[in-house]
Amino acid sequence: MCGIIAVVQERGDVAPFLHQALKRLEYRGYDSVGVTTIANNKMYTKKDKGKIEEVHRRLNLDEMPGLIGIGHTRWATHGAPSMSNAHPHFDCENKIAVVHNGVIDNFMELRKNLSEKGHKFNSETDTEVIPHMIEDLMKEGLNLVESIKEVTKRIEGTYAIVAMSTKENDKIVCTRDGNPLVIGTKSGASYVSSDIPAFLPITNDMILLLDGEIASLTNQGIHIERLSDGEIVSRDSIKISWTADQAQKSGYPHFMLKEIHEQPDAIRKTLRLRSETIETAARLIREAENVYILAMGTSGHAAKAGRHMFASLSGILPSFELASDFQDTVYGSLSERDCIIAITQSGETTDTITAVKYAKHYGAKIIAITNVVGSSITRLADHTVLTQAGPEIGVAATKTFMVQLTSLALIALALGEMTGFKESEEIVKKRSSLEKLPELVSEVISRNEERARKLASILYEKPSLLFLGRGVSMATAEEGALKLKEIAYNHAEAYSAGESKHGPIALVQDGYPVIFVVPSDETRNRIIGNIMEMKARGATIISVTQKEDVEITELSDYVFTVPEITEAEFSVMPYVVPLQLFSYYMALRNGYDPDKPRNLAKSVTVL
Ligand code: GLU
Repeated sequence: MCGIIAVVQERGDVAPFLHQALKRLEYRGYDSVGVTTIANNKMYTKKDKGKIEEVHRRLNLDEMPGLIGIGHTRWATHGAPSMSNAHPHFDCENKIAVVHNGVIDNFMELRKNLSEKGHKFNSETDTEVIPHMIEDLMKEGLNLVESIKEVTKRIEGTYAIVAMSTKENDKIVCTRDGNPLVIGTKSGASYVSSDIPAFLPITNDMILLLDGEIASLTNQGIHIERLSDGEIVSRDSIKISWTADQAQKSGYPHFMLKEIHEQPDAIRKTLRLRSETIETAARLIREAENVYILAMGTSGHAAKAGRHMFASLSGILPSFELASDFQDTVYGSLSERDCIIAITQSGETTDTITAVKYAKHYGAKIIAITNVVGSSITRLADHTVLTQAGPEIGVAATKTFMVQLTSLALIALALGEMTGFKESEEIVKKRSSLEKLPELVSEVISRNEERARKLASILYEKPSLLFLGRGVSMATAEEGALKLKEIAYNHAEAYSAGESKHGPIALVQDGYPVIFVVPSDETRNRIIGNIMEMKARGATIISVTQKEDVEITELSDYVFTVPEITEAEFSVMPYVVPLQLFSYYMALRNGYDPDKPRNLAKSVTVL
């Protein structure tokens, strides 16, 4: 969480760039924002509580002098969102500015020591100990890089830190451990940021910075060293294939709506993943004794659907575990014969990274499914499947969910071929049905967008909704409920339709909305029974069902329809789309910005 950007360039004030880059990072946090530049050996700072454009209207973030600067958009962990807690943070003499992403676990003790030495603190953040420590170390004669190296020995926790000082006013220094930072390069300028889209309009050349490395950036280039032994790191830049346009709204009112509409294309691109990539993943799974799929949030729903796909197509049933609870579930019962499939769109989800590190400790093989090239998980994994959604900016995941499902489907088919669990004609048939998904999803969007808007105008005031499904459709129901909670703030719960009569049905009374996910698979007839139970108690029935399903349509008060799909394993992909659209329009009706849900940030980099 939190977006960091810094730039040093040969010519021109950096402030307008920092402002625009922060807007591109705003999905990472948006409770406060701040920018500091250096000109004439002096720091210029503008920071305040609120979203970037609100702060810009008050303070004009474009007008600040200087060829060097840092900016931060915050997702508060320590101290409320406020002007004084907004980053950057400074030393006592206002000569050192620091922005930070992450948490310094031992900040209380460090703060106490620094206060005893006479340092004055202006915020409640954990971050502020860093500039004060650098101040002391620079006074002892260390330069900025040396001071930050020393600071990394004293702090505990996870961090991405970027600092600059008026005493070395041509330089930005950054280091990381557990939180992302990527470097952008271009002739006459260097950039560092939490995420690639920040500098995409300027450069597609990126250099990875790994945990435990420190970089100093000037307008002439980059110098990277390893902290443990001072070894100089020479690393080539990578060309990023994403375009700046992909990180713009392109005429859509919100990123989320644009990204829902981009899903067919994202699936199409992911279907073109190299067959070796998919087969290597399948082989690792095939050879394993136990297979676990780990993820959080929306990726967790993809994982659950993936589990069904694997079982049904290959006869291998992996265990699904929330990455956050993995250690507390397996209690060390892992070995080098096990395989972990870890799914995280950003590749930086701390819960997932932590679980993967834990599994690696026991020698388990790791397959990562992620959307971000060079992200932390790719460096931990034995094998990476890189999904092809392009940058996703809306905080609520949509197209990255779709491509996670697509890559899981490809792996499940390859695995099915290896195990021979299904006849090979069957696998061929399923593969060709998967190929049709981009078109199918496109049709689902056009069929249901207006219905979603209308239904939202009817249901937006409902305090609570129930989402029910069976089998693989549980993943659809859970994702539908999560989307609604995340962005529209209506309370929503997903249950197995079978389980619903064992408790949740007590909530149902006249007009209580119950959304059923009813593809035409083997769960359909049993779901009819559950619809009847809910109807008998006065529920308003909304179904997502196949377009020709007259029976379900007649039983329902409202329907979303999906053109026929024969392969039940892949049904989550088309069936979730109306629910994404429904949440989007519910958020709008409730007066919320679907791209920036409260309390959330896109990539969750704290435990
Ligand atoms: N822990 C720091 C704070 O609360 C940084 C949080 C972040 O990553 O945005 O200010």
